[in-house]
Amino acid sequence: MSTELPTHHNPFSEVNEKVAIAGDFLHLKPGLVQAMSTCEREVVIAIPLRRGDDVEVLTGYRVQHSSARGPRKGGIRFHQDVDLNEVRALASLMTWKTALIDVPFGGAKGGVAVDATQLSAIEKEEIIRRWTRSLVHVLGHHRDIPAPDLGTDAKTMAWLMDEYHRLEGFQPACVTGKPVGLFGAAGREEATGRGVAHIAAATLKENGVKVNGARVVVQGFGNVGKYAALICEELGMKVIAVSDVTGGVVNRKGLDIKSLMVHPTLASADVNERVGAAEVLEIECDVLIPAALGGVINDGNVDRIKADFIVEGANQPITSSADKKLRAAGSIIVPDILANSGGVMGSYFEWTQNIQEFSWPIEKFRRELDTRMEQAFTNTHKVSKKYKTDLRTAAFIVAVERVSQAFEMRGSLV
Ligand code: NAD
Repeated sequence: MSTELPTHHNPFSEVNEKVAIAGDFLHLKPGLVQAMSTCEREVVIAIPLRRGDDVEVLTGYRVQHSSARGPRKGGIRFHQDVDLNEVRALASLMTWKTALIDVPFGGAKGGVAVDATQLSAIEKEEIIRRWTRSLVHVLGHHRDIPAPDLGTDAKTMAWLMDEYHRLEGFQPACVTGKPVGLFGAAGREEATGRGVAHIAAATLKENGVKVNGARVVVQGFGNVGKYAALICEELGMKVIAVSDVTGGVVNRKGLDIKSLMVHPTLASADVNERVGAAEVLEIECDVLIPAALGGVINDGNVDRIKADFIVEGANQPITSSADKKLRAAGSIIVPDILANSGGVMGSYFEWTQNIQEFSWPIEKFRRELDTRMEQAFTNTHKVSKKYKTDLRTAAFIVAVERVSQAFEMRGSLV
């Protein structure tokens, strides 16, 4: 079975469908909904990369969806499937995420269409430096602040910061997700996964299911998936399967996540039971955490998903059509803009620390993260009860209301 996306999957239209539904609930003017469904700025660049004796020209992107509530914020993805439409969708999701958790940012996203697993360190550095040089005029700590995403990490952000400093002078708040030894924040690396795990536990409690011993499956064992699995385990859940691009590993009694984390990929892990990367999604469990790519739960496999709760660690892991089927079958889905918002919350903490030149101990970082994630979770539930709707629609109602109010208060539109 493959995780190939159905050809009709259009991630940006799917986000805008949710914006339109929220707009209807809030009785917003059509022009305002249209403005919030359109990206403010889209920049496409060519990145020539030396490869052997030749040059390969890659395509890079930065899409700024909204600055209504503050400087644009969003990650940079290195993946072969990156295209303008996907970057638009991810940029707009950042607008809704930052509004939902009430941090003073707008939304943006960037990417380069390249297979990150095939790049040497020096090639990766050349790409991110070129990306930064070409886009420096639209970046900056009060304009647009990148962060890591699929295929990029703290090291990539350090190169980005270094290139930015060469061009514009010292301003470490120009990018988040940096190494802790280089203006990063202790706690940021684990923040997305930590948020996912705490939201999973809160969802089980809210629905009267025991957290202790709850069976968890995680697809994707990178930044988000590793820490989500580790912290689920710390909270008493039993992680029975995880997968990465090389395949999945299973132990029905519970995997030892720390021992898996030392392997560069799961291919070298010492386990008895293995399954294909995509089959992991179909294992019967209480909580399924897709934490890799978008669109992995779609019409092709939705009938075989056997999880009561799905907590979206990745962005848009479920297509709109599969989402409807799962909800009709009784699954409870915690949407990406809530479930994985610990990442941008953590980036906000890093950004404020850089601007204030005052660093927090990790305990404070974790305390603030847990408190504010819980507030976002409680508020989303309250709104879902008020409007008698699912959690995704409720999350969009909260976010769209905040962004539309910012638009109106600025006085420049409709
Ligand atoms: P990452 O590059 O660190 O890890 C991605 C993981 O997915 C890797 O383990 C990779 O092997 C695996 N993978 C790739 N293709 C797969 C497949 N077909 N089947 C199974 N596993 C596969 O990326 P990340 O930062 O962990 O991001 C993962 C997802 O979470 C993305 O959708 C990203 O947008 C989202 N996200 C990330 C953050 C963050 O702070 N890093 C924040 C919010 C959302």
